[in-house]
Amino acid sequence: MLDDFLLKKLSEMENAGLLRTLNTIQSNPAVRIEVNGRKFINFSSNNYLDLAGNKEINKAVADAIEKYGFAGTSSRLVCGNLSIHEELEAGLAVFKNKQASLVLPSGYQTNVGIISALMANEKNSCIIMDKLNHASLWDGVKLSGSRIFVYEHCDMNSLEKTLKRAHKYEIKLTITEAVFSMDGDFAPLKDFTELCRKYGAVSMVDEAHSTGVFGKEGKGLAEVFGVSNKIDITVGTLSKAFAAQGGFVCGSLKLINFLINKSRAFIYTTAISPAVCAAALKSLEILKGSATERAFLLKTAEYLKKKLNKLGFNTSNTQSQIIPVITGSVENTERISLYLREKGIYIPAIKPPTVPKEQSRIRISLTAGHTTRDIEKLTDSISEIV
Ligand SMILES: *Cc1c(COP(=O)(O)O)cnc(C)c1O
Repeated sequence: MLDDFLLKKLSEMENAGLLRTLNTIQSNPAVRIEVNGRKFINFSSNNYLDLAGNKEINKAVADAIEKYGFAGTSSRLVCGNLSIHEELEAGLAVFKNKQASLVLPSGYQTNVGIISALMANEKNSCIIMDKLNHASLWDGVKLSGSRIFVYEHCDMNSLEKTLKRAHKYEIKLTITEAVFSMDGDFAPLKDFTELCRKYGAVSMVDEAHSTGVFGKEGKGLAEVFGVSNKIDITVGTLSKAFAAQGGFVCGSLKLINFLINKSRAFIYTTAISPAVCAAALKSLEILKGSATERAFLLKTAEYLKKKLNKLGFNTSNTQSQIIPVITGSVENTERISLYLREKGIYIPAIKPPTVPKEQSRIRISLTAGHTTRDIEKLTDSISEIV
């Protein structure tokens, strides 16, 4: 009976061209990868500073395993809270100019854990979301059961209207990404934080794709806009530019103490491995000093975007290392992705429900490890597509 049900559901997805399958990579999933014995240039990882497989990080991990072992062994609240967790959290809090920070086993879990804890069963609270916010933020909202308002993507007039509509709620948790994961555009953080102030809303910003990439020391977009101190809750992930694993939240000491007590995603899960903490700590150190790599990455991204636009491709409103090429239908997107695959370029198609219908795309994700020749190869191959 279950199998019949599953077969029906899977067939529906397959007929719509939306069935997802896994590809097998037989190498470090960094810039140069091997898939089924063939070599590809990878333009799809979030390894923005090319730190995946970094020797210093690997060494730090090996040393940590020597000292602590690999396992977390229990919840942080039982016996899983090691000195290396606290060391990492202290480092992240300083990095983001906040009083305190808390690390969870993934960025996904961090967002779900914050929102569901803060907003649980609060009758006089509501959540205000950018329409294109990441799935992890939406799942946190769903789990919280809170009243929800949605504003148009990055549209501050729409946000202001929404804040006015939501005026009667005592706590208004207003959430945006900094650099949007599927479009690569910026939230207007200056206006966003000003509006939150004006209407007495709590601001939460997810810097998953901007941490490590933007700002002199890679602190993120809030730093570039000079608004770090106006953001109440800052989220980041250790799994993208950090090339480690896990998520983190930074804010006031009260916020962190509250989450330690109330966030089920933190309480009812085993502590993140000390080896992962060691990787993130080493990354943090390297990443702060990677200004040259950041500048190179963003320069390359700008060059690639201009070139793609010249070739007539729609790259949406990207301002970052994430460059979507909007290809429309699922079929067209698959066709282009496969064509590039034949040319030795690895960029899987991004399809609904990850992006809206008819907004399928290939999402080019650049890293500091891509050379000028890699970019040329990509643009040459793309220009052959009709
Ligand atoms: C990737 C991502 C996350 C989740 O982070 P993980 O550490 O991969 O679980 C959260 N928010 C945004 C905007 C993301 O793109």
